[in-house]
Amino acid sequence: MTIAERLTQARERIARAAERAGRDPNTVRLVAVSKTHPASAIREAYEAGQRDFGENYAQELVRKAESLADLPDLRWHMIGHLQTNKARLVAPLVATVHTVDSPKLAVELGRRALAAGRTINVLVEVNVARDAAKSGCSPDQLGDVLAALREQPALRTRGLMTIPPFTEDPEGARPYFAQLRELRDAHGGAEVLPELSMGMSHDVEVAVEEGATIVRIGTAIFGARPA
Ligand SMILES: *Cc1c(COP(=O)(O)O)cnc(C)c1O
Repeated sequence: MTIAERLTQARERIARAAERAGRDPNTVRLVAVSKTHPASAIREAYEAGQRDFGENYAQELVRKAESLADLPDLRWHMIGHLQTNKARLVAPLVATVHTVDSPKLAVELGRRALAAGRTINVLVEVNVARDAAKSGCSPDQLGDVLAALREQPALRTRGLMTIPPFTEDPEGARPYFAQLRELRDAHGGAEVLPELSMGMSHDVEVAVEEGATIVRIGTAIFGARPA
């Protein structure tokens, strides 16, 4: 199957899940996760109409943004853990950072966005499962991260993001997606935090049913990643 065909398939999965949940499919944005795949694959997806692309590593994002600079309306999403000292690299390029998880990173990214003369959309990554091996702030720290973001004029806080622990059965992710939505409701609701970035190739349907407005799909579009 071509990338264009797999993109169509991914969009159909999202649309069916949205319809089941009584939601307008247009309220779910697809971010195509292109990490480890070459710029040529991204270009192919772009030609099939895809505009939002997710990368996990700052240097890889910079490299690809350079080779795809002729596609001006392509939007880059930083979806991997962002080290404070890499904020400078991505600030001139990214539309959205999904992984702000500390006041310190909020301050540094805000400073770098201001210096680049840009406004960056930001999501706070929350480690809802409190898995010590994973990044993301704990639910208890969310208030502090949101407060730090409010002080940053060049950052626009748009919502929350999470990665649930992997379970064979995608239903296993449902309680974590529901928790992210409940946390959003506890911190001002959809008016303040309209976006919920959750759901990947494996569990996108469950995420859409639980209210995802951004889904991040890699494997189902670009194929397996080289080990
Ligand atoms: C790799 C990755 C994805 C995409 O995962 P697939 O299973 O390939 O769809 C989504 N979100 C994050 C944060 C990732 O690192």
